[in-house]
Amino acid sequence: MENKLDGNAAAGALQAILPFDMTLVQATCTGCGATNAIGATAAYMHGMGTIVRCPRCDTVLIRIVHARGRYLLDMRGVRVLQIMEG
Ligand SMILES: [Zn+2]
Repeated sequence: MENKLDGNAAAGALQAILPFDMTLVQATCTGCGATNAIGATAAYMHGMGTIVRCPRCDTVLIRIVHARGRYLLDMRGVRVLQIMEG
């Protein structure tokens, strides 16, 4: 069961873990090489976590699981994470 969300929801989930302004962070997809702002990606709520997909090729960029007092961040679909200095 997947619930599609706005990319800003993914930014919000990552914001709980990382100290950067996640709406400004850009991720380069390992699948197609496209670079997208996290806020412009497609996010899906999935069981106990959030999945961020590339809007161009649907590759899973980031998987965020929050369980038993810890966050698990699976970033296998991200080639480069570009973080703007605040
Ligand atoms: Zn892609």
